[in-house]
Amino acid sequence: MEKLEQLIDALTNLPTIGRKSATRLALHLVENKPHALKLIKALEDAITGVTQCELCGALSETPICPICRDEHREPVVAVVESHQDIQLLEATGNYHGYYFLFPGKVEWEKVEKLKKFIATHRVKEVLFALPPSSGNQFKLLQIKELLGNLPGVTLTQLAQGVPSGVKFENVDLTSLGSALLHRHKVEG
Ligand SMILES: [Zn+2]
Repeated sequence: MEKLEQLIDALTNLPTIGRKSATRLALHLVENKPHALKLIKALEDAITGVTQCELCGALSETPICPICRDEHREPVVAVVESHQDIQLLEATGNYHGYYFLFPGKVEWEKVEKLKKFIATHRVKEVLFALPPSSGNQFKLLQIKELLGNLPGVTLTQLAQGVPSGVKFENVDLTSLGSALLHRHKVEG
């Protein structure tokens, strides 16, 4: 059945879904039309209604996300790798600043955008909240280099305690919260 195969292939592309689960899901959907239609609607709404915040790059239903619009946040910006990491840092309850999504390679345009963010939000501290790894340490230093001298702005990074090479989603919130509280100045 070609159409069923197509659906299974599409589901297999999703994270954490293997061929076996994809087949189970596909069969469920074709056998339960109301569930399938509800899913189609939800997918359509989410895809068309969720975009990226123009300022921080986080997922948002409005051009500027609620966090960027919140004037009561502390003048700190956390440089993060993914939207999921924003949710995790929020969940620790130990962080009350802004976020800036910086996935992938260091590019001049992204750093310029971060600089603009620092200026418009009157940021006093840039916290590199990237999962510790040698690659991310290099990334941090590259960003630092491109940011150049920012008067009155301190650059910090998470304290040890979050194991190296591990994504935040696999770290318990207490460790993550403690790494946030004990953050220190970027050396070098
Ligand atoms: Zn935003």
